[in-house]
Amino acid sequence: MSAVPRNIPQLYCSIPKVELHVHLAGACQLQTLITIAREREVPLPCDNMEEFWSHVSLSEPQPSLAIFLKPFGTIQSIISGSSKALEMVAYDFSKASYQAGVLYSELRFNPPLLAHSSMAADKITLTNDEVMDAIVSGLDKGKKEFGIDINMIISFTTNAPEQAADMVDLALRYRDKGVVAVDIAGDEMVPMHQLHIDAFKRAKQSGLHITIHAGEAGPAANVKRAIEVLGAERIGHGYRVLEDEDIFTIAKKSNVHFELCPLSSIHTGSQRLGAPHAIQRFSSDGVNFSINSDDPCVMRKTLIDDYIMASNEFGLNYKQIKLSVLNGVDAAFLSDDKKQLLKEKVLHKFSEVETQYNIGS
Ligand SMILES: [Zn+2]
Repeated sequence: MSAVPRNIPQLYCSIPKVELHVHLAGACQLQTLITIAREREVPLPCDNMEEFWSHVSLSEPQPSLAIFLKPFGTIQSIISGSSKALEMVAYDFSKASYQAGVLYSELRFNPPLLAHSSMAADKITLTNDEVMDAIVSGLDKGKKEFGIDINMIISFTTNAPEQAADMVDLALRYRDKGVVAVDIAGDEMVPMHQLHIDAFKRAKQSGLHITIHAGEAGPAANVKRAIEVLGAERIGHGYRVLEDEDIFTIAKKSNVHFELCPLSSIHTGSQRLGAPHAIQRFSSDGVNFSINSDDPCVMRKTLIDDYIMASNEFGLNYKQIKLSVLNGVDAAFLSDDKKQLLKEKVLHKFSEVETQYNIGS
């Protein structure tokens, strides 16, 4: 594969993408949040657009994941408890994915966190099924309009083990509407509750896929636990697996897929700019990974910026980036038939891009 000039943002706009790790609440468009906040009379501690933006997004890297997560409280107070709002942000997500060149995506969220807002004047509490119906409706509208495919992952939260069994039931009820997997997000330092372990076991036995946030703010041991105890087929982030070579070897042997999020890894303080980045070691060691955005709007970025960062900041070449997309296809929670179709679409688009940019082998 011939060398490609690195600084070609247009190339990274054009290449086909598969996104496996992105949160609904982190992917809400600013203008939509303003519209919803006004409509639902959500009192906000600001009175102009720039100030509002600073409450729902971050302009620079933060020292810790806990600080990075602060805007989510405001975002959830705006969108939670409204079917209309959830439908709007789900539709927006499909549109933004299409605009970023995404052909297939898996969107994750925790329905109970989206059921009620104590700040909105309407004081409505949605059932988990109503939350799901609203998001399914927004995604379906976008999928039809933009011709992309999107499935859903239901996230447990580490601090609510009592919800885990219900989340598995919910995922199973909405399997025919596009739920493909369960996940766990939140404070990684909270010990894994037996109710969560039981829920992942039942999810797997029922045919749901499993991906786990691990090794982001938490230690390498969390990656080992995700693979060996929770049955993870994919790891969200996983950068800190590199702190323990034995566990890194276990991860490589298992061929678990890592959902890497370059920009968010810096914004959350999980990785440092200027220091060696996990994506470089993963790439040189042939680890199975994809490139994802995690929370694009909270970082005032898009998935394209993650690709540009992987290339320009961390030095991945075109061939390595193409491989990460194809690995993403293989790791997608799709049936073999659908995966094959997606692979054909992705390869076809790559060959168009390679002709356009004169990238040869
Ligand atoms: Zn995440």
